Amino acid sequence: MLIEGIVKSSLIDFPKTLSCILFTSICNFDCFYCHNRDLIKGSGSIISEDEIFSFLKKRQGLLDGVVITGGEPTLQKDLIPFMSKIKALGYKIKLDTNGSKPEVVKNVLEENLCDYFAVDYKAPQDRYFEICSFPGTKVLETINILLESNVDFEARTTVVPQLTLEDLITMAKELPKLPKYVLNKYVKPKKFLEKDMERINAKPYSPDEIKEMANVLRKYQPYVIT
Ligand code: SF4
Repeated sequence: MLIEGIVKSSLIDFPKTLSCILFTSICNFDCFYCHNRDLIKGSGSIISEDEIFSFLKKRQGLLDGVVITGGEPTLQKDLIPFMSKIKALGYKIKLDTNGSKPEVVKNVLEENLCDYFAVDYKAPQDRYFEICSFPGTKVLETINILLESNVDFEARTTVVPQLTLEDLITMAKELPKLPKYVLNKYVKPKKFLEKDMERINAKPYSPDEIKEMANVLRKYQPYVIT
C-alpha cells in the first residue's frame, strides 16, 4: 500500500468521528483544481506500512476512525488487506474515491470493510473529461452500487467557477436520488499547471451563491447541503 502522507488527527473529515487521514499515492484523474497535485503521479516519498500500523496501534482508544484518501485509493492493489488490518484494530473506516473503480468499491462492500464512503461527482457527464482528464461514466456506476448497498455515503461536488447552474442541474438529474449530496466551495489550490492558470484564477462562487444553487437543486436532489 503506497501511503505518502498522514494527518494525525481530524474532526472534520469523517462525520462524527475523530480520525486520522492517510493519503495514498497515484491518481488516474488529473482535475485541474486538485489540492494534492504531488500525489497524482506519486512523489516516491512513501511512509512504510510498519510506520502506519505502529501509529495506529499507539492511537487505539484515542482515535475512532481512519480516512483513506488520495490520490485515488481504489487504484492500490492491496487496498482490501490493508483495510482489513485497520478494521482488525477496531477502527471505523471512511473511503474517499473519485468513483472510477466500481469493481473495487463492490469488493470493499462485500468484505464489509468501510463504514462511510465519499464519492466525488465532478461535472456533467459531457464535461467530465474537460474538468478531470477522465470520463465520468464509471462514477455513476459506483454511486448506484453504493445506493443499492444501503451503506452510509455522500456524493459531493466542488462547485468550480466553470460549472454553471445549468451544469449543476444536469448533474443533479444524472445522479440517482442521493441520501446526501454535498456542494463544496472551490478553493484555489497552491499548486497547479501553468496551462490552467486562467481557470484556476476564475472568480469562485460565494457561499451565498452556492446556497442559492442548492435551493434550486433540491427540486431534483432533496438532500443537498452546502
Ligand atoms: S480525483 Fe482527487 S486526487 Fe485525483 S486528480 Fe482529482 S482531485 Fe486530485
